[in-house]
Amino acid sequence: MGLAMLAGELEQQIKGRVLVNEPMKNHTTFRIGGPADLLVIPAEVEEIPFLLVFAERRGLPVTILGNGSNVLVRDGGIPGLVLKLRGGPKKIEVDGESLVAEAGTMMPLLAREALKYGLTGLEFMIGIPGTVGGGVVMNAGAHGGCMEQVVTQVEIFGPDRKFRRLPLMALQMGYRNSSLQGNFSYVTRVRFRLSHGDRELIKERMEQNLRYRRSKQPWNRPSAGSVFVNPQGEAAGRLLEMAGVKGLTRGGAQVAEKHANFIINKGGATAADVLALIEEMQSAVANKFGIELKREIQILGEDRICRG
Ligand SMILES: Cc1cc2nc3c(=O)[nH]c(=O)nc-3n(C[C@H](O)[C@H](O)[C@H](O)COP(=O)(O)OP(=O)(O)OC[C@H]3O[C@@H](n4cnc5c(N)ncnc54)[C@H](O)[C@@H]3O)c2cc1C
Repeated sequence: MGLAMLAGELEQQIKGRVLVNEPMKNHTTFRIGGPADLLVIPAEVEEIPFLLVFAERRGLPVTILGNGSNVLVRDGGIPGLVLKLRGGPKKIEVDGESLVAEAGTMMPLLAREALKYGLTGLEFMIGIPGTVGGGVVMNAGAHGGCMEQVVTQVEIFGPDRKFRRLPLMALQMGYRNSSLQGNFSYVTRVRFRLSHGDRELIKERMEQNLRYRRSKQPWNRPSAGSVFVNPQGEAAGRLLEMAGVKGLTRGGAQVAEKHANFIINKGGATAADVLALIEEMQSAVANKFGIELKREIQILGEDRICRG
């Protein structure tokens, strides 16, 4: 069955948006990436199981994305079905010091919601341009805070096709890591435990975090955040700067002048440009310091897809 027919079938059965041959550059903060065969933004969490079964029955591989802020999609695009949650399920429930957010909720929005209720704990999220679901999977963090400090429970739709609630312990969260990476579990809701605090102080901390970020990072240029995780006891940005890669350019991609651990898309960059830069950055640091930098950015999709 052709993609247009599959899309038509889906559109009749869900409330979410269905797009065919959709360029992934429209759905990643890097503004890079070839087309997804089908891209669906579910309207509600309950549509996720339906979409997974739909894809399985038709042999379509499934890729899940939050806001695409930590990924590089290759130029050939992503075969099968991409489930994108940003713009989809984003209900937030607050009960005392406990807060439950649907996976498509953007982290900065959640931080502002917590502020409204005078709840402290999410100030670190204010400038991280990802969803709560992506944030849990990556154990996102900044300014001394991170997901594992505030999450108590995660609801997933698992490979066994059941919704499950997992306690924090089961997620094995480490630095930019969790057991949810690549294990075919789909985060649907996240529960946080916060505490009451002084609204003015919470607001001031958020503003401070944003000021810091704007002064240190190329926050207004398309990127996917830090390219590499920090090696033990070191800052990847410092090593890269000392290895002299700032400003290095391949096609439309450039190592940011403002922060050597960021690659920015200056306009028209391809995934191939970025991958070439990543290799050069790794080699420069390996040659100078004998340290092997590990990628934080996740690479998705294929170089070239033969769409018969
Ligand atoms: C300018 C900029 C600044 C950044 N600053 C920071 C920072 O300070 N700290 C930090 O930690 N990160 C930072 N990042 C990186 C990024 O925002 C975080 O990693 C964020 O948590 C990714 O969320 P996302 O929704 O965009 O996930 P995506 O990039 O869409 O996905 C990331 C991974 O999670 C998986 N995934 C996403 N949603 C789900 C889900 N619901 N269920 C299962 N798997 C899922 C995807 O398949 C993918 O493997 C920054 C990025 C940018 C562009």
